[in-house]
Amino acid sequence: MQACEHLTPILNSMISAGCSVQGESGNWSEAQHVVHFSSPLPASMRGLAQPPVVYYQAGRTPHNAGDEGYFCRACRVGLSFPTTE
Ligand SMILES: [Zn+2]
Repeated sequence: MQACEHLTPILNSMISAGCSVQGESGNWSEAQHVVHFSSPLPASMRGLAQPPVVYYQAGRTPHNAGDEGYFCRACRVGLSFPTTE
């Protein structure tokens, strides 16, 4: 499991909060590397983004389940959480 230097503090906070990692993927058009969590983003963990890290929300599409999380624009690395409906 790896994230960039900007996301590692957030990643560690998630692990400390009990979030578990489902897997990782890479080589997306917009992201080099994404860490996927198996549980939703805790509400208390939504305010952690500081540049170059941004918080994002992506709606469900025919091809993708919705997700939210953090993305580092400098390193193109993301932390992805499933959204509940
Ligand atoms: Zn970064």
